[in-house]
Amino acid sequence: MPTPFESKRAPIYKDVPDEKWNDWRWQLSNRLNTAEDIEKVIPLTDSERKALQTQGLFRVDVTPYFISLIDPNDPDDPTRMQIIPRAEEMQAFTAMMEDSLAEDKHSPVPGLVHRYPDRVLMLVTTQCASYCRYCTRSRIVGDPGQTFKREEFEMQIEYLKNTPQVRDVLLSGGDPLVLAPKILEELLSRLREIPHIEIIRIGSRVPVFMPMRVTQELCDVLAKYHPLWMNIHVNHPNEITKELEEACDRLTRVGIQLGNQSVLLAGVNDNIHIQRELVHKLVRIRVRPYYLYQCDLVEGAGHFRTPVAKGIEIMEGLRGHTSGYAVPQFIVDAPGGGGKIPVMPNYMISMSDHKIILRNYEGYITTYEEPTDYTPAMAAKFKGIKRPEPGQEGVHGLLDGKDLFIKPEGFDQLHDRNGIQHRLKDSSKWKPLGIGDGETTAE
Ligand SMILES: *Cc1c(COP(=O)(O)O)cnc(C)c1O
Repeated sequence: MPTPFESKRAPIYKDVPDEKWNDWRWQLSNRLNTAEDIEKVIPLTDSERKALQTQGLFRVDVTPYFISLIDPNDPDDPTRMQIIPRAEEMQAFTAMMEDSLAEDKHSPVPGLVHRYPDRVLMLVTTQCASYCRYCTRSRIVGDPGQTFKREEFEMQIEYLKNTPQVRDVLLSGGDPLVLAPKILEELLSRLREIPHIEIIRIGSRVPVFMPMRVTQELCDVLAKYHPLWMNIHVNHPNEITKELEEACDRLTRVGIQLGNQSVLLAGVNDNIHIQRELVHKLVRIRVRPYYLYQCDLVEGAGHFRTPVAKGIEIMEGLRGHTSGYAVPQFIVDAPGGGGKIPVMPNYMISMSDHKIILRNYEGYITTYEEPTDYTPAMAAKFKGIKRPEPGQEGVHGLLDGKDLFIKPEGFDQLHDRNGIQHRLKDSSKWKPLGIGDGETTAE
């Protein structure tokens, strides 16, 4: 048996009866948010006290359970850094933005971000159990004046009903699992009434901040709305406790697939040994590492940023060195709404017309001999298989012969150079020839 996971409680909570400690409502209503309260659990540094006493800072709230995971004698404790603000939070940096992912621009109705062809991000609340200092949505999260209204929820549902290409709805916020149980259930059942919604996903840090919320009763409610997947958010092995293990066990036993999304944070987890221990502990509690994000260009998060190279270095140290199940994808969420872009070390070293040269994690360099008789006509036929709505083929559209190029904005006007329309400019001369065009094998 591997070493069991620990359970912790800060000394000031030693006398709290177990029924209270294990009650999520007690955890929520006893959250700490002032310098005075927090100082009773951990001695504050000047920088932290200054930040906590500053007006207008992104909201602070910490559950008694989560603050108990902090080593009070370590000012750089990785759990502490994620939830206790520091003066550095007030420092601006180059390229800092309020809405760095341009989510609001991609919202057809308030709180619904439709960025990708077949799935949407649905923001259902602005509240969380505790507030991550590097929150990508700090522009709306935590502010009680910014909650989503009933009519906005109805607009979201209406949009989804009328948008049949959406087959996957990702509930986030804020944290969907802090919603009142009745509201959460109404939300799930309203989504399930829409026939084209195939899967529902929940993104939640509640299991990490307040594992006692994941009661058997909640798991049974969630299981009524399968297929339902969940991503949790763990950044450091210290966050994996006996309570989190048990919460994940309850979720997986009702058939909810668990993934983890973490953020690469300077001073918290920007180290291969920490990352390896993190992913190992995650797979032990049956959570599959899903994404490791590069920190967004968001206000307040400057001191957490690392170069992208740090993430590539971490991926180099994971892939091949450990179980494939334990390896997340490293993602840069492109500023300006470009969406998630996977980044990794290069494994393909070179290629010719019949051979590729690859290297593995050990630096072993090898060859793969390719078939010389493969033709497009040999590809699988896809009669009867649904194809995505046209319009967002992207780079794959180039491979498929739909388009010859993708042009930057203003490209044609620039290259027209105010010239005249003449015979050589006839656009009908420049049609794709159709080789490799999926159309030829379509129904
Ligand atoms: C992250 C995200 C999704 C889901 O992305 P996956 O790569 O499918 O996990 C969907 N919509 C938006 C706007 C997102 O930011």
